[in-house]
Amino acid sequence: MSILRRKTRSLRLGDIGVGGDCPITIQSMTNTQTADSKATIKQIRELQAAGCEIIRVTVNHQEAADALPAIINSISIPLIADIHFDHKLAIAAINAGVDGLRLNPGNIGSELKVQEVVAAARERRVPIRIGVNTGSMDKDIYQKYGVTAEGLVESALKHVHILERAGYEEMKISVKASNVPLMLASYRLLSKRVDYPLHLGVTEAGTMLRGTVKSAMGIGILLEEGIGDTIRVSLTSDPVYEVNVGRQILLALGLRKGLEVISCPTCGRTEIDLVKIAEEVEAGLAEYRDKDLRVAVMGCIVNGPGEAREADFGLAGGKGDGILFCKGEIVKKVPEEALVAELLDLIRSQKD
Ligand code: SF4
Repeated sequence: MSILRRKTRSLRLGDIGVGGDCPITIQSMTNTQTADSKATIKQIRELQAAGCEIIRVTVNHQEAADALPAIINSISIPLIADIHFDHKLAIAAINAGVDGLRLNPGNIGSELKVQEVVAAARERRVPIRIGVNTGSMDKDIYQKYGVTAEGLVESALKHVHILERAGYEEMKISVKASNVPLMLASYRLLSKRVDYPLHLGVTEAGTMLRGTVKSAMGIGILLEEGIGDTIRVSLTSDPVYEVNVGRQILLALGLRKGLEVISCPTCGRTEIDLVKIAEEVEAGLAEYRDKDLRVAVMGCIVNGPGEAREADFGLAGGKGDGILFCKGEIVKKVPEEALVAELLDLIRSQKD
């Protein structure tokens, strides 16, 4: 079953397309001081290695803007500058060569300043993301609608209309909330009002477990409805983990191909250390992350191979030993301590 995506306009962030028929991309944001270009470059490279496709950095003062050229020259994914209030920093970031801006045009002072930013953005075809969340709603709109989907969407549209009046339509939009039902209602409403690409996220989602569940619910439900063109998981954690969660959301919905390790929850039939084995298999297959490959790690020979019939390869535990199987057919029996190594060898011999 494939997901029918809602039609949106498309734009480009460097080499990467967002919206239209472009694949859904995974974004993250650094948490280093942007002015510390060395630390920022290091983190961006780690995030890129984890699968991050677009990176955002805060540009909160001139020193941060000054660091942008060195950062851009040292990375190979599009860079977005996150700007609040200061149009001069926006222009400095564009001139430094960023691929995108995150900026709310209603917050930078005057339409004249917006026009200056737009002129620079247009010249270099730099798209702008308008990002509203429950903490940054327009005051008048907040008083009229309160913290509601209507309020978030009207706040976002106010910024959208400013850019449209300035004759600029290279934009994408986000309306994030920490409350998942509110976030869902906001994006659903927004997707009916505009055809600009949408950047999905649950803001301030929380620490690892809570934030992962909330992000998977909020982002996943919308993607399944065909809403959303690029995603960012926000966690109070290492951003590498955000990227991993983003990947798993896309994989779980079939929106991206990649390695899937299926493993059973274990039960009274299990007689091998399945938790350790599953972790070792997953770690051992890191090089297949982007390959279309399903591998099963099952606790028992009685039910394992049958339950994991859809897997390309798998192992199932016995008592002190286990079997390897391929598409539900048994390949061989091996001692427990050799199960992981033999499974990895079998996969490599057939996939490489
Ligand atoms: S595969 Fe076997 S060990 Fe795993 S949950 Fe099913 S019956 Fe239990």
